[in-house]
Amino acid sequence: MDYNLNDNGYYGEFGGAYIPEILYATVEKLRESYLKITGDPAFKAEFSALLRDYVGRPSPLYFARRLSERYAASIYLKREDLNHTGSHKINNTIGQILLARRMGKTRIIAETGAGQHGVATATVCALMNMRCIVYMGETDTARQQLNVQKMEMLGAEVRPVTSGNKTLKDATNEAIRDWCCNPSDTHYIIGSTVGPHPYPDMVARFQSVISEEVKTQLAAHIGRDYPDYLIACVGGGSNAAGTFYHYLNDERVQLVGAEAAGLGVDTDQTAATIHLGKRGIIHGSRTFLMQTDDGQIVEPYSISAGLDYPGIGPLHANLAETGRATYLAITDNEALAAAMELTQLEGIIPALESAHALGALRKKTFRPSDVVVLTVSGRGDKDMETFGKV
Ligand SMILES: *Cc1c(COP(=O)(O)O)cnc(C)c1O
Repeated sequence: MDYNLNDNGYYGEFGGAYIPEILYATVEKLRESYLKITGDPAFKAEFSALLRDYVGRPSPLYFARRLSERYAASIYLKREDLNHTGSHKINNTIGQILLARRMGKTRIIAETGAGQHGVATATVCALMNMRCIVYMGETDTARQQLNVQKMEMLGAEVRPVTSGNKTLKDATNEAIRDWCCNPSDTHYIIGSTVGPHPYPDMVARFQSVISEEVKTQLAAHIGRDYPDYLIACVGGGSNAAGTFYHYLNDERVQLVGAEAAGLGVDTDQTAATIHLGKRGIIHGSRTFLMQTDDGQIVEPYSISAGLDYPGIGPLHANLAETGRATYLAITDNEALAAAMELTQLEGIIPALESAHALGALRKKTFRPSDVVVLTVSGRGDKDMETFGKV
């Protein structure tokens, strides 16, 4: 399913591969080989065996009875929070490590914000006995000590980044710098549907296992394989891309993304890229991006570390531009209230990122017959300190 994706990696006017010349051959090699390698039956068999036995897939599609009563519609939760390492990120890192190995790479680098992608990358590197270096903004290493500790225990080297605002954007810049110095032996595992082509498409394909499972599971639950609504939170856009993937061309399904409004879209403390972003280039791709009139990147803010990215995957920029998907901006307070609601109604503590998807429920008016599938991208363990403060 290549929704509006052309051969040069553009979704409409968004995407492409804006990279330094020194990386050209490496990215070109990846572009030439990713579909060939991932389409190989031996690759597919190894990927699905690991998703089953190591990650614990399929993740359940759970009918949330009390939540459904609250919103007067049938709400099903896709439980990515139950995956090994606690979120959907592992689906992508397993795929990319298998690809890296087949491309003969021996060294893995990654960027991380909250540390979830760093932990998922360190995990698969331990599994495959690969050297692993994770770039993380110094501010984030202090905020997310537990994840730093996990990465180190897993054998990764965490390199604190002290440039810029010392957060995710700066960690990504540093990872790209590393890649420029070590293009031949190193694979860069990007953690979302961002970066130069082919990353957005490659990551979406690895995450598409989410909607592949939803189809079968929904058919078993209700006797039809599509919902009326799909809802997912959007940082760079990978769990949403995986949730939407097999329904992108099915117009019966309304696609809803939830981005982080922070303190509100009318404040300067926000990460609502689709609402406020302008066209620009960030980390190798043309997309919507929060920037000043001079084109300087504006530092995003959200209570949820996984959503405060100043850009957005080019697939989502295109889905927003064409109107195929709608994106709602959910504030910190709305997300916190939604997390509390899910916890008390269903006994599930969601990640703060996923709580933004839950916050979208009260902004929609459903008919009683509507079937809603909402992806719970991760679990809330990592956010207990934040929940405790409110
Ligand atoms: C990283 C993360 C996100 C945001 O990333 P996407 O690529 O937009 O999915 C959302 N939820 C959780 C739990 C995460 O760890």
